[in-house]
Order: sequence, then structure tokens, then C-alpha cells
Amino acid sequence: MNLSIIQPEWKVEKIEVATLTGERARSAGSNGRLGDHGKSCSVRIARMTIDGQVGFGHSGALTEELAEAVVGKSLLELFDENGRVLEPYRIPLEYPILDWLGRRQNTPVYELVSTSSRVPGSPLVVPCYDTSLYFDDLHLQDEQDAVALLKEEAQQGFDKGHRNFKIKVGRGGRHMPIAEGTKRDIAIIHGVAEVAGPEGRIMIDANNAYNLNLTKEVLAAVSDVNLYWIEEAFHEDDALYADLKAWLRERGQNVLIADGEGLASPHLVNWAKKGLVDVLQYDIIYPGFTHWLELGAQLDQAGLRSAPHCYGNAYGIYALGHIATAIKNFEFVEYDDIAIEGMDASAYQVENGLFHVPNKAGFGLDFDEELFARRVLASGWSR
Ligand SMILES: [Mg+2]
Repeated sequence: MNLSIIQPEWKVEKIEVATLTGERARSAGSNGRLGDHGKSCSVRIARMTIDGQVGFGHSGALTEELAEAVVGKSLLELFDENGRVLEPYRIPLEYPILDWLGRRQNTPVYELVSTSSRVPGSPLVVPCYDTSLYFDDLHLQDEQDAVALLKEEAQQGFDKGHRNFKIKVGRGGRHMPIAEGTKRDIAIIHGVAEVAGPEGRIMIDANNAYNLNLTKEVLAAVSDVNLYWIEEAFHEDDALYADLKAWLRERGQNVLIADGEGLASPHLVNWAKKGLVDVLQYDIIYPGFTHWLELGAQLDQAGLRSAPHCYGNAYGIYALGHIATAIKNFEFVEYDDIAIEGMDASAYQVENGLFHVPNKAGFGLDFDEELFARRVLASGWSR
């Protein structure tokens, strides 16, 4: 980012944090490793006052000590010489800092971080997928009923503008007997693919609940599906991914291998550079936006694909739209339909499988200032 837009006299005057709460449109069930994800969601938001003006954004792990150390600093001191937010301030404060800068410049954050050749001011649309298809069927004995339920859920997403869908698989890893669960995964993939239509991209995510042979069994059974990637098939392992890659190549089956959320192996990026993994998925909140600006550039150089993970954090969904202008091989916004009270995201739209990012200052979200102030008193603090 170009630091010349920052005036040396701009000082951090105040930091306030609070938790805002909300709900998913539909309760989310289990996945390959965890139990029910439920309906309620929350985001931790910081409001920073700099030079008399406020910016809002997600704030992770911000301590009162750090806030106290930052208040009184000049904004410039929070950046390194390359225009990146310095490491200690990233997860706690990068979002409110960038939002503030966008608001002060009256420009969206995606224009501030853009490295692409898109014409400034032109509409920003980014592919997205519906990430809400969890194991919502475990209470159903009959496989056909399970397929019907997941098809109905996919249809709800389709009706809201989605064309691409990620399906949680790995029912046989923990929640169902292995053969029955795997068979149900396969039937559900076919069912959802029917709803998505031939153009819709399908992703499957096992949260490491498969092993290599189960992965091959499922991939072979869904070779008629427009399957775009398989995510976290099993815990990443270079020998097993090399085998899977060779097997896919022999069959001429084009399915990308995606990995990197959660407790990713420190070797993962190197394995990707060796051709064993295609899509990297570190989280957009932890390690975050600035980390992704750096990693995305590195992955672009290596010809690898970026699809930052964003489940369970409603703020991250919108941040993903903005980082898309800084990463050439950006894949998708991971979209979950969540409404957070006091955070107005209505300027964003999902249409025909595309996420429309508004040409609005900062991250394009409006916060209810009165509600935020009440939440600071109830669940937060200020410095
Ligand atoms: Mg995942």
C-alpha cells in the first residue's frame, strides 16, 4: 500500500472493542470432526478513532495493554516501510486501520490494496460459493431423505443467487458407520450437483475424515460431477498427496486439491510449490488480511491458487471480497448467510454465483454507532 497517503500528524486517539452477535440463516450441523455448529454467531469489532474520525473492523486477540500502547501513536508507526501493517497490530487491528484509511480517502479498501490492472472505480465482482451444506441429515435413517434435505438446502442457496456449493463430507469418519457414511456422502454430492446444474462448481470438504483410499473411492464415484476441488481429504501428507495426484492424472480427472485451514503443516506451502497441492486456504482472520497480501503474492508467483478460509466469522466474508483485487489467482469468497445485529452488509449482493463488492468507503459495512457504544459498555472496553 502507498504510504504517502498517510499524514504524519494522524494519531490514534481511542480504541473501543465490543462483541456483536447474530445468526445464520439456518442452523449448521456437524462436519467430519466436530459436532453441531448451530445458529448463533458473533464478531469482535474494534472502533478506532484516528484524527477525529472512526474506522471499524474485526479485532482478534486485542489486549487492553496493546490498545494502551497504540493510543497516542501516529498511524504511520503501525506500518512497515512496504506499506504493510506491522506484525503485532495485524490480527488485533488491521481491519479497523484499513477501514479507517478507506473512509478517510473515501475509497474502498480493495482500491487501496489492488495490484490488478482493473480500472479504478469499475464494479468489483468476485466468484463465491455457498458454504452452508453441513451434516444436517444425521437424524435421518433413510439415505433418500438425507439427499432430499441437502438438495432442499442447496436450493435455498440457489434461490439466494448461489451457483457454486461446498459440501461437507466424511460422515463415516465419526458420525456414521464408515461404509454407510461414505455411501451417503456420494449420494448427497450427486443430489447437490443436480441442484447446481452442469455449470455450477462443487467443492467437497472432508475436514480430514477420509484416508487416501476412501478419497479415491469417493472421487471415482463422483467422476460425473463438476467437482472443482477436494478440501482437507485427510491430514496433509506429501507421500499420500503425491499418490492422489498421480492417480488423478492417470484417470484424467481434473479435481484440485485444497488444504491449509486449521492446524496446517508448516511444509504445506512447499508441498504446494512441488505440485502436490493446488489451492491454499489459510484463514482470513487468523493469520489475516495482511498476511494474505504477502502470501497471495508469493502463491501467484508460484502459479498456485488462493482461497482464504472463512467459516464462522461473518466479518471475514466481506474482507474476502476486498482482498480479491490483490491476488491474481484468487478463487472464491466463502459465503455463509449470517446477519449480525448492528453490522449492515446490505450493500453487498450475491447474484448468479458472483459476490458484488460495493464501491463504498472502507470495507463497505455500516455499523450502528449507538448499538456499538452500548455493547462496549456491556461486553467490551475502551482505551
Ligand atoms: Mg474447510
